[in-house]
Amino acid sequence: MKGQKHRGHVARKRFGQNFLVAPGIIRKIVDAVAPQAGDTLVEIGPGLGAITGPLLECMDHLHVVEIDRDLIQRLANRFPPERMTIHEGDALEFDFARLKADGPLKIVGNLPYNISSALLFHLLAFAPLVHDMHFMLQKEVVDRMVAEPGSKDFGRLSVMLQYHYHMERLFIVPPDAFSPAPKVDSAIVRMIPIDSAEVMRSGIQQDEADGAAVQDLALFANVVKAAFSQRRKMLRNTLREFIGEADLAALGITPTVRAEDIAVADYVRLANTLADRKPG
Ligand code: SAM
Repeated sequence: MKGQKHRGHVARKRFGQNFLVAPGIIRKIVDAVAPQAGDTLVEIGPGLGAITGPLLECMDHLHVVEIDRDLIQRLANRFPPERMTIHEGDALEFDFARLKADGPLKIVGNLPYNISSALLFHLLAFAPLVHDMHFMLQKEVVDRMVAEPGSKDFGRLSVMLQYHYHMERLFIVPPDAFSPAPKVDSAIVRMIPIDSAEVMRSGIQQDEADGAAVQDLALFANVVKAAFSQRRKMLRNTLREFIGEADLAALGITPTVRAEDIAVADYVRLANTLADRKPG
């Protein structure tokens, strides 16, 4: 079946194309991003330029990362290169550090839903270079990102992102703000790296909750992944390969609770205890 056309472009499902068509919502997004003339701003997936145009009204220059060649051609026709640098390709492979010389990065995007979690994990590596990020995502994903321990939405995404960012759900966007309309509600989330200035100066990751820094990020990620691999199971089972029941209890973590019941700071303490034990 042929896809739905918007301004002469057939929306491509495989690229998660749902174009924003509601001027009021576009204005609210641009106001939330609050671009300033000299900012280094990158838009992921500019599409037909619904947010791009209004953003560029406030600034001298913008970077965009877009995968769809037809859309790139249209963007290149509409915006001159001195106003917009187009990075053609997959945002999941884009090296955002290429732009760091221009200053702390502001990143914005009405993200393709099919790659949103993968993209959030890809962006973690660049958190120290980021000033702030504003994304449109499925509301359900945003709810998981900002969820508190003890809730059913609290999961791997919550722990990994909350360790790196302050996050705030700004507002909900209904399906009729897009063409074609998605089946679900969307939401705008603001993400600000925790202590980005400090992280940039020292290369150390700070955890706000108790001031502790994760010593080994890969180990931290593995522990969190294992804990949530079977979220109905108790931590003494899911973390068996990492730590015994008595040692869990010694850390103040009840071995019979589940992954969703302990806080980000508990995962940090857990991972750091394991890092201390590692030989060498
Ligand atoms: N920003 C536009 C708007 O708000 O109307 C378009 C948003 S649409 C939800 C997602 C955009 O991301 C599309 O332009 C799509 O081609 C692009 N895209 C999809 N996958 C991508 C990827 N892996 N890397 C870069 N851009 C991608």
